[in-house]
Amino acid sequence: MADERLLDDLAGIVGAANVLTDAADLAPHLVDWRGRYRGRARCLVKPGATGEVAAVVRRCVAERVPMLPQGGNTGLVGGGTPDDSGGTVIISLARMRRIREVDPVNFTLTAEAGCLLREVQTAAEEADRLFPLSLAAEGSCQIGGNLSTNAGGVHVLRYGNMRELTLGLEVVLPDGSIWEGLRALRKDNTGYDLKQLFIGAEGTLGVITAAVLKLFPRPRAQAVAWLAVPAPAAAVELLSSMRSEFGDRVTAFEIIAASALELVLVHIPGAVQPLADPRAWQVLVELSDTAGDRALSGALETMLAGAMEAGAVEDAVVAQSGAQAQALWKLRESISEAQRIEGFSIKHDISVPVSRIAGFLESAEPRLREAFGQVRIVAFGHIGDGNLHYNLSRPAGLDNDEFIAQTPLVNRIVHDLVVELGGSISAEHGLGQLKRDEIRRYKSPTELDLMRALKRALDPAGLMNPGKLL
Ligand code: FAD
Ligand code: ZN
Repeated sequence: MADERLLDDLAGIVGAANVLTDAADLAPHLVDWRGRYRGRARCLVKPGATGEVAAVVRRCVAERVPMLPQGGNTGLVGGGTPDDSGGTVIISLARMRRIREVDPVNFTLTAEAGCLLREVQTAAEEADRLFPLSLAAEGSCQIGGNLSTNAGGVHVLRYGNMRELTLGLEVVLPDGSIWEGLRALRKDNTGYDLKQLFIGAEGTLGVITAAVLKLFPRPRAQAVAWLAVPAPAAAVELLSSMRSEFGDRVTAFEIIAASALELVLVHIPGAVQPLADPRAWQVLVELSDTAGDRALSGALETMLAGAMEAGAVEDAVVAQSGAQAQALWKLRESISEAQRIEGFSIKHDISVPVSRIAGFLESAEPRLREAFGQVRIVAFGHIGDGNLHYNLSRPAGLDNDEFIAQTPLVNRIVHDLVVELGGSISAEHGLGQLKRDEIRRYKSPTELDLMRALKRALDPAGLMNPGKLL
């Protein structure tokens, strides 16, 4: 009875068609992208406006019903999957999809949280501006999800992560009140910077409903190259030389182990090996310039020729057309998908100072081999940000269950090393359910207590995305 009344009330707020209870309708929202976490929910509601989100939250709080904000459900740590209590109300932002304003002179754009990342990129482009956040899930992830995970992606090196791209937020707090923080200011020193609390909070402190995002001048020229390097240390040195020579024009610098490219070549139709002679470590580099007349590709070719002579680069191909550049990017962007098709993998999303990346790679593999004998490392990532997706796939001689059983010890070895090197066990994906317990080993009691105190202050009843992050 109480359940029916709640559903009726929610339907009264958002319209009956926007309350889903049917098992088939709910199914895609109860499992994460990798198929690793599954849960149950009472219903999914799709509010169409901030006031409706607030009313839904107030109604749930009155009934002490747990809530889960959900975006495009592309998250990789189980933060957007409900628990299996079956009591959760999923709040989907999918209908809140308006670009409220584009201000090209202020270089800002105000978007509702349900806008797809790609829609925001396109709206910026239409105003001759760039919104630089870019990741393989951009066709399905939402701005609200990007904010709540503080998403990174391939252009952080030049433009920063979501936190650095955000000027203001509008948030429905866990008591149903609305915080109007949609300021489009680059300077605002009026006390605590509250928006920072919600960015990266993984939906545990409220529902983000809109944001003011930073725009940039649109690049007119781009040069993309795929290189083979003798070792990760050489890649890091090359990155330094490139930044010295090209400054801010270095917009992406990604490392790809041969094992990662191999999975793409096997699983992604149309993928073609870019270099004649595949090497253990490869790099995808992108330069961008707002001045269209600069001969960027030529400058990159000259630089790479010098690097090849010095032995810092073993082989290189510079894209000769937009289509070729896109094909190179597609190889990089398909790695997660190829890995998913390959099967279960033990994933790490780690960061260390860029200067310690090579040290990390040199130490991690021997430590894992010592513990397990055979390992199959599939590493790739945003080396320009010190961020690696250091994943392990199942070695040929091991069955799936045996491999999965290794997870805790593999995590221990990798994460202990990361922390020894002054790094983080979650660079860009968040904690969600995947690293909620693991983080306790690495954050000090003081830091954890401070986080818990913030959670209690904003959500004393613990109803906003419970069981995630903390
Ligand atoms: P969801 O998965 O729906 O939710 C993620 C978290 O945010 C959950 O905790 C949820 O509760 C919360 N949330 C969602 N919307 C809101 C809201 N409006 N208010 C409050 N909380 C909310 N991530 C990177 O950082 N860099 C990458 O390069 C990258 N590459 C990826 C590649 C692939 C192929 C895939 C599948 C994922 C990748 N990701 C990457 C992870 C993922 O795309 C990002 O974390 C993305 O930001 C999640 O957005 P989403 O809308 O799908 O959020
Ligand atoms: Zn990434």
